[in-house]
Amino acid sequence: MKKDIHPQLNKLEIECSTCSKKHELSTTSKEVTIDVCSGCHSFYTGDTSVAKATGRIERFKRRASAARK
Ligand SMILES: [Zn+2]
Repeated sequence: MKKDIHPQLNKLEIECSTCSKKHELSTTSKEVTIDVCSGCHSFYTGDTSVAKATGRIERFKRRASAARK
């Protein structure tokens, strides 16, 4: 690598603000924050309980059928 033209590469340990899982990251930034990660996103966990618990799907279907009338 050429000297004095590359940005400083930092090794950061970042913490997910949702599930507190720690991730190691190599970045040129000094600070990185994440709201969701592979440890808590429903795509990776296969968990659909959040949408079920809040009833958002049912509410959407109810509103959609009301709008069709
Ligand atoms: Zn997470």
